[in-house]
Amino acid sequence: MPFNLEKYTSIKNELPSTKINIVAVSKTKSVEDIQEAYDAGIRDFGENYVQELIGKYEMLPKDIRWHFIGHLQSNKVKYIAPFIHLIHGVDSEKLLLEINKQAKKNQKKINCLLQVYIASEETKFGFDKTELELLITNYFSLKKSEALKNINILGLMGMASFTDDLSIVESEFSYLKTIYDTTRNFSTTNFNLSILSMGMSSDYQIAIKHGSNMIRIGSLLFGERH
Ligand SMILES: *Cc1c(COP(=O)(O)O)cnc(C)c1O
Repeated sequence: MPFNLEKYTSIKNELPSTKINIVAVSKTKSVEDIQEAYDAGIRDFGENYVQELIGKYEMLPKDIRWHFIGHLQSNKVKYIAPFIHLIHGVDSEKLLLEINKQAKKNQKKINCLLQVYIASEETKFGFDKTELELLITNYFSLKKSEALKNINILGLMGMASFTDDLSIVESEFSYLKTIYDTTRNFSTTNFNLSILSMGMSSDYQIAIKHGSNMIRIGSLLFGERH
């Protein structure tokens, strides 16, 4: 199925604020499908496989803002460091240090979101509340502000449990919003939260209700993945 502009427009019009951004999740979709969305004016695309992203980056217009939304392995950071717009799923100290290193090599700063573990599933990644606090103390407190100079932490990202029970999804998003609000009280030059990335095709409405300002929509825009 090609890009569904009508659906995109209806989701956009339904959003309660123009400050909520949509990332069109194009993983597994063809370069042609992405080009079609691009021609309709879409610039933010989300991918979660490094190899696939690199191929698409090379073939598509250079003003696309590429979002890496998957689980990123440290040894692959170097491939996307030169061009990535925002890395959503930073879920370990090791990864953070590697992103900083590769950003420095490229003489740039890389924008990141810290992934917070909110689901009740072993397969999901992220920091829990305590780990997040520790990370801030260890790397972003005022006396440590030189440590990760080539990183900009712009916000938090989370994924809710894969379940039909919407009350669970609701409470997980609400929990993440609480963490976001608390964490926002802290800011330094390279840690300043303004993005809360939560919500996908099945749960973006609940996410928005709980304060999301960046939704990642795939199947509603490009059709089901196989
Ligand atoms: C695939 C993916 C999405 C989009 O999922 P849909 O259900 O197709 O909207 C959003 N976020 C992440 C992290 C993903 O991996």
